[in-house]
Amino acid sequence: MVQKLSVLIIEDEKSICDFMAKTLVSSDCKVMSAGSGKEGLTILTSSLPDLVLLDLGLPDMDGIDIIKQTREWSSLPIIVISARAQEKEKVAALDAGADDYITKPFGTDELMARIRTAMRHSNKIMGDHINSNRPYSAKGLTIDFDKRLVMVDGKEIHLTRVEYKIVSMLAQNSGKVITYSSLIEQVWGPYADDNNRILRVNMANIRRKLEKSPGEPEYIFTELGVGYRMIEDENIE
Ligand code: CA
Repeated sequence: MVQKLSVLIIEDEKSICDFMAKTLVSSDCKVMSAGSGKEGLTILTSSLPDLVLLDLGLPDMDGIDIIKQTREWSSLPIIVISARAQEKEKVAALDAGADDYITKPFGTDELMARIRTAMRHSNKIMGDHINSNRPYSAKGLTIDFDKRLVMVDGKEIHLTRVEYKIVSMLAQNSGKVITYSSLIEQVWGPYADDNNRILRVNMANIRRKLEKSPGEPEYIFTELGVGYRMIEDENIE
């Protein structure tokens, strides 16, 4: 028997909670919901859902504290539901251990895509490393990690070492937002200057090389004030 994916929604806004629950149920998920932080934590520890959708602004608790408390004992995927123009909160949630966020208002497709991505990354962490080095491909962009070969529409793209590091890290986490600070740390090391300028310069060069129209990127999107997100690998089952 195939186990249904069980999702816990912690959200005090009933209309949003109902919308998400309806979407999830029609995608054959099992749904639990909580309207407060305390209730959410109780269900979390007693029912052990596969994934949590978490609103940060709850009546009794700060959602960030729920992430911190959960991360003390679990690595289950947490997707934060956030309002527009709260970049600092989004970054704080990701730093506290959230896997991703989705910005209100969002549609059903976006919600399900975020959930699929978070589950895929969580399964990878659980030990499924068999396919972790297989090539990335989306919309004519392919990356062969073994050969360190990047191609767009069959044409080889020459990237510098740093540019390749940035692109491959985004591709290996495709579909997921990667914060500026974690990219800088991965590429330049933990003692790197936390200044985004050099990252932005590299990204401008990457886009000039990869994108047909760098001002309207198809492959790497900017999440303003937070980081970058690469279009999801098309070979994801
Ligand atoms: Ca709220």
